[in-house]
Amino acid sequence: MIVMKFGGTSVEDAAAIDRVAAIVRDRRARRPVVVVSAMAKVTDTLLKMASAAGSGDRETALALSRGLRERHYSTAGELLGTGVFTRFHGELEAEFDALDELLRGIAAVGELTPRTTDHVAAYGELLSSRIVTEGFCMRGLEASLVDSRQCLITDATHMRAAPLLDETNERLRRLVRPRLERGQVPVMGGFIGATPGGVTTTIGRGGSDFSAAIVGAGLGAEAIEIWTDVDGMRTTDPGLCPEAKRIRVISFDEAAELAYFGAKVLHPATVLPAIQKNIPVYVLNSRNPPCEGTKITARGMHCKNVFKAIAAKQRITIINVAAPRMLLAHGFLKAIFEAFDRHKVAVDVVSTSEVSVSLTVDSNQAIPALAADLAKLADVRYEGRKAIVCLVGENLRETPGIAARVFGELADLKIRMISQGASQINLTFVVEEDDVPGVIRRLHRAFFSELDPEVFA
Ligand code: ASP
Ligand code: MG
Repeated sequence: MIVMKFGGTSVEDAAAIDRVAAIVRDRRARRPVVVVSAMAKVTDTLLKMASAAGSGDRETALALSRGLRERHYSTAGELLGTGVFTRFHGELEAEFDALDELLRGIAAVGELTPRTTDHVAAYGELLSSRIVTEGFCMRGLEASLVDSRQCLITDATHMRAAPLLDETNERLRRLVRPRLERGQVPVMGGFIGATPGGVTTTIGRGGSDFSAAIVGAGLGAEAIEIWTDVDGMRTTDPGLCPEAKRIRVISFDEAAELAYFGAKVLHPATVLPAIQKNIPVYVLNSRNPPCEGTKITARGMHCKNVFKAIAAKQRITIINVAAPRMLLAHGFLKAIFEAFDRHKVAVDVVSTSEVSVSLTVDSNQAIPALAADLAKLADVRYEGRKAIVCLVGENLRETPGIAARVFGELADLKIRMISQGASQINLTFVVEEDDVPGVIRRLHRAFFSELDPEVFA
């Protein structure tokens, strides 16, 4: 069996769900379990209405709910046609009436807890999974709705609950497997679950990928397919470098390094449960189903190219902390990091010498206050308009002379910080923001002009 997960844009309207039905029908022989996100933007709207209700603004909450109700009714109406929709309409109506009831309750109390937030947030996937199931049935697929709250069992850390895998796996085997054996296509909402006592939980924003991985790992899937609206991962951002090519196969570790730069496609940490069981994960495009996408595997496969991808992150500030008097003193780095912690500023790249430290952070308003705090410890300078460039590839581990080649290509540029070694599969450095397009194009030409056809398309 396989797991097919469809994200918010893949189920955003009737035309999208129609495409999804065709894609699933094509995979019929592989016995798919389908996991769906809420329709695009719906979770955002639900959270907005929950917070409006929590602050006592009942009218705004109910108005937002009316908007969602209309969108779901019209999607279902278009997808199912008047005949079937008339029969199905009552089910959606009951869900929305219950949601409105809940919002009125929250507004009356004027308090929103994480537990109540989960109750509201869960509606997105409860509704989309119902509509998708009906749409499949009308299109000749024998789909069967599974309530994820009965399968995905979690702890009670509301809004970012952790799955309890033994209990979840037992439920999946008991509730999902028999449907597969009957030849049905189980359809379930991602993102949502419940405690062992049956209280609704959610597993964190973007959690449907995680749900798909848990379901796949629990049922021993042959593959997990994450259907989005792009053709998979690329060698670099095509906006910066039109020669960017699709990566056909990438290791989990490489994908994880890249996630920080382009988490839009898929955050690999969310598919870890599948990778740990050696189940390959495919990133595919529901608007271009014939494209074979990107395959993420536990271990990297042989590749003639040194790197798999080049990524850049702009809007970076370097903070330089120099303390000649702290020479040889211990506890200096600790004091520096404590200051970052106090100001809740995350550090990305760090370079140190005996008497100074350079750190990069996202450019934001907290920096002047942080710098003032650091100035109590040492001399501090900060400079904005920088960018982090990162080259990723498992072959970096074994290939000599790579740094010389990379920096040789950029010999006329000012390289501000260099970091290699932490993961052994990435080479990271900092440049002026304005240099980024040129840097990416030059490195892409140098390292991706000839491509291993097994690995790149
Ligand atoms: N609908 C949820 C969210 O928007 C989960 C997901 O789409 O993966 O965060
Ligand atoms: Mg997502």
